[in-house]
Amino acid sequence: SDEEQREAVLMAIDRVATRMQDEKSHLTDLDSAIGDADHGANLARGFTAAAEAVEGSEDDVDEIVKKIGVTLISKVGGASGPLYGGSIMSASQTLSEEGLTAETSIAFAEAYLEKVLDRGGARVGSKTMVDALTPAVHTYKKSIEVDELPPVTALAKAVAAAERGVAFTVPIRAEKGRASFLGWRSVGHQDPGATSTLFIMQELLATAEK
Ligand code: ADP
Ligand code: MG
Ligand code: MG
Repeated sequence: SDEEQREAVLMAIDRVATRMQDEKSHLTDLDSAIGDADHGANLARGFTAAAEAVEGSEDDVDEIVKKIGVTLISKVGGASGPLYGGSIMSASQTLSEEGLTAETSIAFAEAYLEKVLDRGGARVGSKTMVDALTPAVHTYKKSIEVDELPPVTALAKAVAAAERGVAFTVPIRAEKGRASFLGWRSVGHQDPGATSTLFIMQELLATAEK
């Protein structure tokens, strides 16, 4: 029902906000190695503001998701703010007709990935959030459409794919964002944005499993 969908989205954003607070120093440590040490603070501030912005909302899910995106744009900052916020805001349109279903969740994931690629210009192998996101979105879609798995199982497979994507960022050289300024010195470090993307997906899975 509409009410259940709304509850699920509100639970998900609360979980993500809490997780970002919990991982704040972890993400800051990762960003201090190859960036400017603000990724943890950026996301903890942004997702906490987003959760507060929609708390108790009785809007439709697409409106709630849109508001989350708008809030992230204004509160996160840096490179990741427009990428996370702008892409969530834009992808929220996929939920406007039918709300949240297996099909619209795939459409949302694909629209979100497309926006991140458009806005950031990164590709798989650039050592960014795209390295976690791309295999996750493809795995999610294939698991539902080809393997005919239930969405929660598909999401679990997507999380596993994102984990491998995060590990893949370690040995490669950054081509985008601040880490690219380090050139070869970025090798051997895990990308902060790929890591936060994994954390978000883990919280979406935990919500879906309830
Ligand atoms: P900033 O680098 O401006 O301080 P953050 O620290 O919040 O911003 O975010 C850094 C993360 O953003 C990186 O770890 C990377 O995953 C992601 N990122 C940076 N530039 C791009 C890009 N052009 N495309 C995709 N992701 C990017
Ligand atoms: Mg940073
Ligand atoms: Mg910064």
